[in-house]
Amino acid sequence: MELRCAGCAGCCVDWRPIAPDGLTGETGASKPTESRPPLDDVANLAPLTRDEVVRYLDRGLADAVTPRLFEPAERDEAVTVDGVALAAVDGRPVFMIGLYKPRKPVAPVGTETVRWLDTCVFLDPTTLQCRIHGDEDRYPRTCATYPAHNLALDTETECERVEAAGGGNRLLDASVPEDIPPPAFGPHALGATVFAYPDPDDLAGVVDRLRRGESTPADRARFVGAAAGSRPGSLSVDRDRMAAARERALTAGSWAGRAIRAWGERAGGRGEPAALTDAERDALVAAVEDDVGAPETSGWE
Ligand code: SF4
Ligand code: SF4
Repeated sequence: MELRCAGCAGCCVDWRPIAPDGLTGETGASKPTESRPPLDDVANLAPLTRDEVVRYLDRGLADAVTPRLFEPAERDEAVTVDGVALAAVDGRPVFMIGLYKPRKPVAPVGTETVRWLDTCVFLDPTTLQCRIHGDEDRYPRTCATYPAHNLALDTETECERVEAAGGGNRLLDASVPEDIPPPAFGPHALGATVFAYPDPDDLAGVVDRLRRGESTPADRARFVGAAAGSRPGSLSVDRDRMAAARERALTAGSWAGRAIRAWGERAGGRGEPAALTDAERDALVAAVEDDVGAPETSGWE
């Protein structure tokens, strides 16, 4: 597998608003492919494992993540909360934890116009590089291995979508690496990347806000707690660990959490041109991310 990522960020940005018709990608994640429609409307969510969620908690970064709930597939068990049917197992809504995508001013996939697009909290909008690339505590396994699972399953990669949209050659070598980890979905993923929320009655109001893209930090902290309290390979959740993790998530005050709030106050409509000069955009990114502690990017080799 060999990729040319400079100037792309196609898998880190929800670029559907600028994609040509027919190239709008999946509504959910292409990192990796999901079979059930997500409740939210954000493409390319990067899912975290339970261990990664715990590491984010330990590093004070739990405010950088968001849960994803799912609509049930035809034969799925379902639980209804806020009038919304949710895919469930044993009466518990299933969910994943992924990286939050605030709307940032970016020009991804080889485009030149800077637009407001939902963008991974860790993507530097100026350099289009990942701020945590290669960081062994923070860089998600999903991102480190992308798009190996798509190649193994022979499903279209985001890199190929970018190519088809005129964003240049991206997937230079499509051979599948030998050492890819298990995919984020499937029975083995229960308690590892796919979790079950044990108290659906507590989600009244939360589900509606998640569906509208208006979740609060407290809403998101609930799910961080449940994921951290989960046991890999099972549906069980340790109540004490869940409660303690939720409290810690609520007190997280990272640069990423501050940037999410700041972008939320400044962002224009999804896909709208940002109407900023390059200098104004750079100054804004510096104020919202760099000046509050975001790690610098390393430059392309
Ligand atoms: S963590 Fe980095 S590579 Fe992964 S989606 Fe975010 S910006 Fe992209
Ligand atoms: S879509 Fe492919 S080429 Fe583009 S940044 Fe992601 S991995 Fe790299």
